[in-house]
Formats: sequence, C-alpha cells, structure tokens
Amino acid sequence: MRRIMVLGAGYAGLHAVKQLLALQPNAEIVLVNKDVYHYDTARLHEVAVGRTDPSEISFNLRETIDPRVGLIVDEVMRIDHDIRAVELRNNGLVFYDYLINALGGAPSTYEVPGATGNVLPLITLNDAMIAHSHIERVLTDYRISRNPYDLRIAVCGDGFSAVAFIAALVHQLPDLAKKFGIPADKFEVHCFASNPKPLYRFDPKLTEWILEDLQNSNVIFHGSSRVTKVEPGTVFAGNQSFHANTIVWAAGIRGSGVVPISGYAQKFNRVIVRDDLSVVEADGGWPREFVIGDVSAVPNPETGRVYPASAQLAIQQADCAVSNLVSLLNGGRTYRFVFKPYGTILPLGPHSGVAQLEDSKGNYTRLKGAKVRLLINRMNKYFRDSIV
Ligand SMILES: Cc1cc2nc3c(=O)[nH]c(=O)nc-3n(C[C@H](O)[C@H](O)[C@H](O)COP(=O)(O)OP(=O)(O)OC[C@H]3O[C@@H](n4cnc5c(N)ncnc54)[C@H](O)[C@@H]3O)c2cc1C
Repeated sequence: MRRIMVLGAGYAGLHAVKQLLALQPNAEIVLVNKDVYHYDTARLHEVAVGRTDPSEISFNLRETIDPRVGLIVDEVMRIDHDIRAVELRNNGLVFYDYLINALGGAPSTYEVPGATGNVLPLITLNDAMIAHSHIERVLTDYRISRNPYDLRIAVCGDGFSAVAFIAALVHQLPDLAKKFGIPADKFEVHCFASNPKPLYRFDPKLTEWILEDLQNSNVIFHGSSRVTKVEPGTVFAGNQSFHANTIVWAAGIRGSGVVPISGYAQKFNRVIVRDDLSVVEADGGWPREFVIGDVSAVPNPETGRVYPASAQLAIQQADCAVSNLVSLLNGGRTYRFVFKPYGTILPLGPHSGVAQLEDSKGNYTRLKGAKVRLLINRMNKYFRDSIV
C-alpha cells in the first residue's frame, strides 16, 4: 500500500486529508502535526483580545480525525527528499511514497533588530493565548504602577491581520476597562504602518470607512512609519521611539523554518512550486510531492506577484494537489492550479466588517457594517466544513 504523508493540520493539510479519504481511500494516509489540536488561524485575533475562548476555535485531532488516518503528533525537523523521509523530533525518520507539505507559516520580522523576543506575534493558538495573558498582566500591573505605558498597545503591521486585531481590541476595551477598573479613555492603541496608510492595496473607499471608524475609537495610525528596531517596551519607527508595554507583531508571514533546511527552491521560506503545485524531484522524475497553503509561493498569472496567504487559497490548493496526486496514482496527468477568489472579507470586531466580493465576471460589490457579520459567520463555517 502506498503511503501518503500530509504535514500540518491547518486548513490546507486537513482539507487535503479529507479529500484523500474521499478520492483515494485505499492509500495509507499519515498526518503529522506538532500539536494534538487544530486551530482556526483566521480567528486568532478573537482569542488574543479575550473575546473568544481558545476551545471555540480549536479541536482535538485525536477525537476528530477519521480512524483510517495514522496521526503522529510530533514536530517536523527536516525533509530528506533523497531517501523520501521526514525527520521528526521524537519519532526519527518516517518514510513516505508521496508527500503533501502544508506546514504553514511563521512570523516575518524582516530581520528587524530586536523584534524576535520583544514582540507578540499572532500566528499560532499559543501566540494568541500568550498575547491575551500578556495584556491581562500589564493591566493588572497598571493598577499598582499607574505607568501609562501599561495602557499603550502598539501594533506593528498594516495589513488585514493587523487591522482585524486592532478592531477586535477596540471592541474589547470597554470590557477590559470594566474588568480591571481602568477608565476606558486612558487606553491608547497605535498602529505603525510601513505604507502611507494601512490596507494600502485594498479598496480605497472601504479603507477610508474602516480608518474613520477606528480613528473614532481613538486608534492612532502612524503612516510611512516602518519599524526599524524593537527594544523591550520600545518601538523605533520612522524617526521616533515609542514606548508601549504591549507590542503586537502582525506585519506578515514567511514560510515554515523547515523549508530552508530541506533543500527546496524558496523565497522567504515559501516553496516555489510548479503550476500544478508539485515540486521538481531531485532526479527530475515523476512528482512525489505537492506543497500547499502558507508554506507555498504561487504567483498570480495576471500580476506575477505571489498570492497573499489566505485560508481560501489554502483550501483550493488542497483540492488541486489531491486531484493531481490521485490522477498520478491512477496513471493520469496533473493540471494547473487556478485560484478562484471569492473576494476579501475582513472582520471588524464582533458585530461588523467589510467585504469586497467578486462575481464570475470580475465585478466587485462592496459591503460594510453589521450585514457583513453574517458573511463572516458563513465564511468561518465554510472553513470548518472544509476540514472536518
Ligand atoms: C490573525 C489572522 C487572521 C486571518 N484572517 C483570515 C481571513 O479572514 N480569511 C482568510 O482567508 N485567511 C485569513 N488568515 C490567513 C489564513 O489563516 C492562513 O492563510 C491559513 O491559516 C493557511 O493555512 P495553512 O494550512 O497553510 O497553515 P496553518 O493554518 O498555519 O496550519 C499549519 C499547521 O502546521 C503545523 N505545523 C507548523 N510547523 C510544523 C512542524 N514543524 N511540524 C509539525 N507541524 C507543524 C501547525 O501547528 C498548524 O497546525 C488570517 C491569518 C491570521 C494570522
């Protein structure tokens, strides 16, 4: 029996497993993930601000995964393509016939000095829980210290995850103020954007609406303020140094650290794949591996730029990779990956959001406010239904 190994139990890996069970049930399927649980990455900001309990955005893989799948809870250290084996931290070498690499990403600190270790990233469930306890700890400190920097939160980054975090935070501040007995107007939220303003390439009208809404909630945006250095409690950006005892890093992702030590052609640790999502084998032969989700770099054929990482992209890539693998196993050929984006949906706290939806003819519809919340709930349900 051929062994198909899937690395990573995020949206990409779990959707791939689901599709493999449906299309190639007679293969031996092995799933490796470093934690015993899956978490919904697209909802991490809710946990970070304390709005949502971690259990609501995660589930135990042992209790959920189909019993036909061999689950190994362990950390992938390296992939040895020559002998077709994955080296695991505790289990050593595990061999495969075919591989689907869906190891996801890691925070990109763009080599900013001091960033690693002095900021709170938001990439894993553990990160989100650490950010939440940190925020609660500094607010507890404030009650004794009266240090205004305990009430300052600096967010480094100007993309979707930075703005989703800021919006979730400002909606949570009244509750935090009440819980810690701190007047709500004493909090300060600052966003450091390397572009002239956040969401620089998003729809200008929706961006204007979002920024106005957040500025009305006393969020201060520092445009064209690329972060150049971080020290404990201090962000250096533009020509200023700025003190804040909570510094959140939401400035982008790079691929898994396993990539550079496993001999892939890569850019920022994201694997450069062929147009069918496979990677070139060392001997130039039959493809044995597909790379999908945040760990892959797939260019948009229209712009030449790599598609931004998203759950919708990861799920569609999993569909394509599994169809191609099943086709190969049955003596067929592989097909080019074509991404069909349904648009961009951005949550702005628990009751609002914005959406830019695209129809099949490429026409855009803009939506904003409370009605987008229904779409966000549907989107989150679609993500969950794709993986369980
Ligand atoms: C705060 C935030 C909000 C977002 N909001 C949205 C949104 O609204 N819509 C949207 O489409 N996208 C959103 N995204 C992006 C989206 O979540 C990612 O693109 C998506 O999670 C990618 O899926 P993935 O399976 O490739 O990676 P992941 O979901 O990151 O999964 C990777 C898995 O691999 C495991 N793993 C990693 N390294 C190892 C290792 N060495 N060994 C073993 N296991 C390992 C991890 O534990 C994890 O289970 C958001 C991202 C963030 C951070």
